[in-house]
Amino acid sequence: MRDKTAFQNFINGEWVSTERHFDNVNPVDGSLIGPVHEAGADEVGAAVKAARAALSGPWGRFSVERRVELLHAIADGIGRRFDDFLAAEIADTGKPMSLASHLDIPRGAANFRLFADIVKNAATESFGMATPDGGHALNYAVRSPRGVVAVICPWNLPLLLMTWKVGPALACGNAVVVKPSEETPGTATLLGEVMNEVGVPPGVYNVVHGFGPESAGEHLSAHGGVNAITFTGETRTGEAIMKSAARGTRPVSLELGGKNAAIVFADCDFDKAVDGVGRSAFANSGQVCLGTERVYVQRPIFDRFVAALKAGAESLRPGNPYDKHMDFGPLISQQHRRKVLSYYERARADGATVVTGGGVPRMEGRLAEGSWVQPTIWTGLAESSAVIREEIFGPCCHIAPFDTEDEAIALANASEYGLCASVWTGDIGTAHRLAAAIDVGLCWINSWFLRDLRTPFGGAKASGIGREGGVHSLDFYTELRNVCIRF
Ligand code: NAD
Repeated sequence: MRDKTAFQNFINGEWVSTERHFDNVNPVDGSLIGPVHEAGADEVGAAVKAARAALSGPWGRFSVERRVELLHAIADGIGRRFDDFLAAEIADTGKPMSLASHLDIPRGAANFRLFADIVKNAATESFGMATPDGGHALNYAVRSPRGVVAVICPWNLPLLLMTWKVGPALACGNAVVVKPSEETPGTATLLGEVMNEVGVPPGVYNVVHGFGPESAGEHLSAHGGVNAITFTGETRTGEAIMKSAARGTRPVSLELGGKNAAIVFADCDFDKAVDGVGRSAFANSGQVCLGTERVYVQRPIFDRFVAALKAGAESLRPGNPYDKHMDFGPLISQQHRRKVLSYYERARADGATVVTGGGVPRMEGRLAEGSWVQPTIWTGLAESSAVIREEIFGPCCHIAPFDTEDEAIALANASEYGLCASVWTGDIGTAHRLAAAIDVGLCWINSWFLRDLRTPFGGAKASGIGREGGVHSLDFYTELRNVCIRF
């Protein structure tokens, strides 16, 4: 039986406690949600062993149809317990209920349905050929699961990003060991209950809690029984994971950080651009990998745009996530708040004009203990400033003017990262030229965060390796084997 007052590990369909605990804290008011049982090398080893055993048990013999049915049952199970998932996600992250109920939880369920259907309908190639002696041969490709897949997750969209990987991994017949972020153990744990409720065989889905270095994360990525590692998080962590994966030449999929640009041309639909750029900078309190921290605006509309974005930022209302008038949550933790505030100070020291924000909002009562910062806009920084070069992952952006299209492209590309960009223009030619010239994995035109889950997702440059999404996920979660039959 699960201890509902704590976050235990979920190994081989059972709840596993450990002696080492750490606190899961609510970022809204600093209150304790509950202790988390940290997995050590032994628990990680047990989870990998359980996953391996599941592959040679009934799960390994499931037909595609049966797996598909089970994945739909998991999605239904999330739907049935929607309020529990919502409460767990809000407690861990402090994000507004309006956001979590429209995005995080529905997408968590949708990820299972989507990949179930993709696997059900996936085709592989076949080629007939003539043999040298005048006979015939047929080549066909078959997909087999990689085996045990380690899924290491961040805290910003916990259920959504975890199921984005667990969904296709299970659809393809793998078994997984998930390491949720130490900041957000809730929904991964709850998903263990759903797995048992809908009859997923033990060992197919395992959860180990803990930190990265010298804890569950590193034990998992270094474990020789893991066949592939899929990771979402910071670029520096991705580098460490890639090193671990080098042992045994194991495949990695890395969805990493970004320092994304929005480019706003004078001929854009002004109101839509302000709305889209504002959402991209401040949604989820700026803790979105696809968020915008660099905004470049063509000079004729620069002052008007800055004023409009300022008004948008100042209209955001921080507060209790369950208050339906509230649309701005805290940062994930005090530690992350210290990091973000250090950039707020750095911007001032580097001579930025603080258009709005730049500090901490006044919160009443218990909320004063939460990890709040103000939405912040700067202008006037040199492009070489760390505030413009480094990923802050907070509700903030710098706005700079540009004159020509070439200049805008050069500014957007002057980054070690290449996750995404958004371009706002009324000219279709400009749109196509920019989409081709900006070195990113995703380019939005007159939109942001519009996601069709069948499309390839991933970053260029230091923002990642590989593409997931739609059939592209199958390439990571399966091994393609060619069979050649002579006849
Ligand atoms: P993080 O890299 O600090 O941690 C991510 C996960 O890795 C956590 O579970 C952590 O415990 C684990 N970890 C840390 N060190 C490890 C190690 N040495 N070995 C194994 N595991 C280790 O990232 P975060 O702070 O949780 O998330 C924010 C970052 O994630 C930002 O950089 C953001 O851009 C990025 N992100 C990227 C995408 C994307 O799709 N590209 C999506 C969301 C977030």
